[in-house]
Parts: sequence; structure tokens; C-alpha cells
Amino acid sequence: MGKNKKIAVFPGSFDPITVGHVEIVSRGLLLFDEIIIAIGINTEKKTMFTQQQRLDWIQKIFKKQPQVKCKVYSGMTIDFCKKESARFILRGLRSSLDFEYERIIGQMNRTMTAGIETVFLTSAPEHSHIASTVVREIIRSGGDATLFLPKGLIIPR
Ligand code: ADP
Repeated sequence: MGKNKKIAVFPGSFDPITVGHVEIVSRGLLLFDEIIIAIGINTEKKTMFTQQQRLDWIQKIFKKQPQVKCKVYSGMTIDFCKKESARFILRGLRSSLDFEYERIIGQMNRTMTAGIETVFLTSAPEHSHIASTVVREIIRSGGDATLFLPKGLIIPR
């Protein structure tokens, strides 16, 4: 396979990773040989969970799937793709709001780099309401977010 290996980068904050993200990766594996879940480090954005914690969770969830890797990156997603020889960016779409936002980023990325395509998968209907932002609110308020989290992801108390 070598050079023609289809590698996709799935970038995000994953603060924390949810069942919605996991489903996008699982379906993405039908299209790509390898998916790199890429935790973007944005110095402007304060996250609830540390980089290490988010990385540990993702590595644990996909430990039996060697086609799924998890890495941390800073800077431009397209530069990270080039570094990893990935020709695809994978993103999930929950709603038309996601679509409008993703369309602009996807088109700007393609303008800057010919050869990297963004591939969008629509979320499963039962996941289209799940957002890390709301999961964080639940956790902050002392609620139980288990239903939205992948099995085995334990929120430290
Ligand atoms: P970002 O800060 O880049 O939006 P997120 O971690 O929130 O990072 O999301 C990463 C990707 O996963 C985005 O493409 C987002 O649309 C997608 N995503 C988030 N939640 C879901 C979900 N419930 N179902 C499908 N895709 C999702």
C-alpha cells in the first residue's frame, strides 16, 4: 500500500471524546486505512481536561484498533496532515450549523492546499444532539454524563 495508504486526520478538541466522535471514527474506518485522531492544542482555548487525560482516554478506547492512532498537534491542521502524509481530513456533521462552519474551514483549507480533501460524515441521528460542550456542563453541575461517553471513560472526581 505504502504511498497510496488512505490516511485521514480527525481533528478536534475531544474535551472529552463522546460516543458521537467514536461513531464517526468507526464509520470512517470503512473509508480510510488509518485514522489519526488529532487533539489540537489551541492556546486561546481553555479545556476542562488536560491534553494527557484526553490522549489517554482515546488511546484506551481504540487500543484494540491499530488503524486508529491518537496524536497531539499545534498549529495548522493542514500542516499536521502534510507531516503525517494524510490526504484527508475527517469531520462530523450534526446539523446545518456544523455544516456552515465546516464548509468555510474545509473550503479555505482546500484553497490553501490542493490535495487535501475534507470528508464529512453526518452523525447518527441518535448522536446528533451530543456535544462535548454540554457534556462538560453536565459534569460541572455534578450530573452523570455516562450515556454520552464511550464505555470505559471514567471522569475523575
Ligand atoms: P472542535 O473544537 O474542532 O469542534 P470537537 O472535539 O468538538 O472539536 O469535534 C471534533 C469533530 O467531531 C467535529 O467535526 C465535530 O463536528 C464532530 N462531532 C462532535 N460531536 C459529534 C457528534 N455527536 N456526532 C458526530 N460528530 C461529532
